[in-house]
Amino acid sequence: MDFAIATVCLSGTLDEKLQAIARAGFRSVEIFENDLLSYAGTPAEVRRMAEDLGLRIAVYQPFRDFEGMPEPRRSKVLSRAERKFDAMAELGCDFLMVCSNVAPDSLGGIDRAAADFRELGERAAQRGVRVAYEALAWGRHVNDYRDAWEIVRRADHPSVGFVLDSFHVLVRGTDLRPIRSIPPDRIFLVQLADAPLLQMDYLSWSRHYRSFPGQGELPVGDFLDALVATGFDGLTSLEIFSDRFRAASSRRVAQDGHRSLLFALDEAARRGGRPSPVALPPRPACEGIEFLEFTIGETALPAFEAVLRALGFRRAGRHRSKNVTHWRQGRVNLVVNAELEGFAHSFYVAHGAAVCAMALRVGDARQTVDRAVALLDEPFNQAVETGELEIPAVRGLGGSLLYFVDSASGLDRLWEVDFAPVQDEGAAGGTGLASIDHVAQTMSYEEMLSWVLFYTALFRMEKTPAQAVIDPGGIVQSQVVEDAGGAFRLVLNASQSDHTLSSRFLTEAFGPGMQHVAFGTADIVATVQGLRAGGIELLPIPENYYDDLETRSDLDEAAIEQLRANDILYDRDGAAEFLHAYTKPVLEGGFFFEIVERRGGYAGFGAANAPIRLAAQSRLVPPPGMPRVGGTGRTDPAGEYGL
Ligand code: MG
Ligand code: MG
Repeated sequence: MDFAIATVCLSGTLDEKLQAIARAGFRSVEIFENDLLSYAGTPAEVRRMAEDLGLRIAVYQPFRDFEGMPEPRRSKVLSRAERKFDAMAELGCDFLMVCSNVAPDSLGGIDRAAADFRELGERAAQRGVRVAYEALAWGRHVNDYRDAWEIVRRADHPSVGFVLDSFHVLVRGTDLRPIRSIPPDRIFLVQLADAPLLQMDYLSWSRHYRSFPGQGELPVGDFLDALVATGFDGLTSLEIFSDRFRAASSRRVAQDGHRSLLFALDEAARRGGRPSPVALPPRPACEGIEFLEFTIGETALPAFEAVLRALGFRRAGRHRSKNVTHWRQGRVNLVVNAELEGFAHSFYVAHGAAVCAMALRVGDARQTVDRAVALLDEPFNQAVETGELEIPAVRGLGGSLLYFVDSASGLDRLWEVDFAPVQDEGAAGGTGLASIDHVAQTMSYEEMLSWVLFYTALFRMEKTPAQAVIDPGGIVQSQVVEDAGGAFRLVLNASQSDHTLSSRFLTEAFGPGMQHVAFGTADIVATVQGLRAGGIELLPIPENYYDDLETRSDLDEAAIEQLRANDILYDRDGAAEFLHAYTKPVLEGGFFFEIVERRGGYAGFGAANAPIRLAAQSRLVPPPGMPRVGGTGRTDPAGEYGL
């Protein structure tokens, strides 16, 4: 099986696109005509450039408005095809993709179109090239892949093949079963694209909103299942028109494309009981977060430790060779790293105090890293002292680390092996924080789909549809990625506005990262009262919210009074309830904690309350452009937020 990507997927000029495609590990490319026309070099130069990069120009596309033309246009369009063949000869490409006609003066009729393709096939054969036909979802007469296939079948010419594009097939909701009976050697090219489910005309939907397989909501898996059933193992390519991708780094988008292909094809082969063309290690379940690691500067360390104590954590261990401590409460483990060298310190220098690593529990840590690396993730190794555990890791969001621990290889013994136990001074009974309920990561809007794919390709995790949340400074897109059992829940947030809290976090924290961590408790009122007793300041929620809650919920007055007194937000889904509260920011950059109580199997994240929370947080943050406090030019958390 040969993998390719169309140049139209990427930002940049043709040379930049080809470099990004080669660097992402592709060996074949589809050249989109406009990329060639707008390039300031000859087709022969493009051919040399591709050859130097080890890339084969597998497809030249698209050839438009060909079939069903009345004379004299029919003759003209055939000579136009000859000129394309000339350009292809210079490019060193032997395959022209033709998409169905949208011209108002074109004529319908399967036999007419088949006769046109037979003639095109004759001309192509004389030039030593092939052509293949794709039904656009908005084609004038041919917009259904079954008609396009019938035209190719009746053209009955070895130089004329069929193109299947998942977008055009899936947006129309066409029956996928007929794909299974198409002879695989007649399918010259498969193009894969996903997209969110939108109510929109096909053309606009296609030109602006496509995404890589696994990033959208179309049933690309069902499409691939039908394709796998044919036994197809030919050229499989990505053709994505996306406003987001056009604004993003071509290198990252090309790599995401390759990752999505590996993931989608491996999964489809497994489901179909066929040998996988890529043979990835199996997709593991993520069993939860073993620990979160904070990197903290020495001067801010005492204040942060005071926050942890006030939250009810106690120091459980001290690293045997590093200035690193382990804090524990319930099933929550936090690591505080104040080293002056190594990864955490570099992260601190670049981002300030922040969560620099997350460790996830899996069944087999080594196999998880092998899968991650096969999916083009970047492995990470750091020297450890003799006797200490070497925990496998890959690079995650914003240069942070994702560690993997398992019990099979004893990595879950890290707390005894790497840490010496300490009797923490003043260890109290805790505040009832029992677990990490979810973590929220903030990133740029262009990057969001990359991280959706990163997590869902690596783990057995699913994404829920993206939601738009109102922030006083603009719209925040929020997308949840979670495993079926709720062991690992991740909220990804991004915004196109510079003035939302999300965007300001990106500026303040010098890049994408973890913006909040939510702890689970079985009794939020008791927990919140415990936090307050320890000196933690909670995010004040306006009176209006509780007045409204009185009218729209069936909570009694006493229950609402209890929520009001403790600045707790409330949401309900059927009989299930969600109660949550927020601390004020505890780190420069705006990082904060959330406390949540889920009752009756509530599965969401209180999205209805997000605008209330964002508005409340915005009131705490100085407006953009305001002079910063302190010698570093950055906010002083103690002065700014009163913690
Ligand atoms: Mg296409
Ligand atoms: Mg949250």
